[in-house]
Amino acid sequence: MAIPEMRTSPWIKVRNSKIHGKGVFAAKRIPKGTRVIEYLGDRISHAEADARYEDHDPNDNHTFLFIVDKKTVIDAGVKGNAARFINHSCDGNCESVIEQSRVFIETTRVVEAGQELGYDYEIGREKDDPPNVDEIFACRCGSPKCRGTMLWPAKRPAPKKSATKKKATRRGKSATSGKTAASVKTATSGKTAPAGKSARTAKTAPRRRGR
Ligand SMILES: [Zn+2]
Repeated sequence: MAIPEMRTSPWIKVRNSKIHGKGVFAAKRIPKGTRVIEYLGDRISHAEADARYEDHDPNDNHTFLFIVDKKTVIDAGVKGNAARFINHSCDGNCESVIEQSRVFIETTRVVEAGQELGYDYEIGREKDDPPNVDEIFACRCGSPKCRGTMLWPAKRPAPKKSATKKKATRRGKSATSGKTAASVKTATSGKTAPAGKSARTAKTAPRRRGR
């Protein structure tokens, strides 16, 4: 059965964020495990996303792409809703959940009224990332656990090891320079992201969703 679309949400409001630009804040206390909103936008192929952002400034990380799977990218820059304003946080109170090829943002703990919502973008690293990729995706989430980057893994893997450590697929919320999909967790990290947990890719042009 199709899940009803969650374009708006009574749980949240959008306003300026100290972290970056606009952010999404709890309009009231949100219980842990609440499905807050759906990440909506134009559903397009990776090829279409590439074509669409071909001319995107490589030093600008600000796009609203979320990789759902190998076939689909959601471009919240087109027909998107408030979900696109949820900032990255290294120690967020939400996570993205993929269900029926759709993306939902759910709380992983109680969020008090007025607190900003955030989840880990876990943007995948790519072999051809530019040298300043960590600068482009620097994190200022302010969490004591901040790893300093929205990329995952936090540090660039050593070139040799990365080949064996990394899983074949990438599915970060975004990707940088020219690839298609992005998954990010390394085999050694011990974490297993739900399929598509983060996915925002950028291929040719950085189309990672930025802060
Ligand atoms: Zn951070």
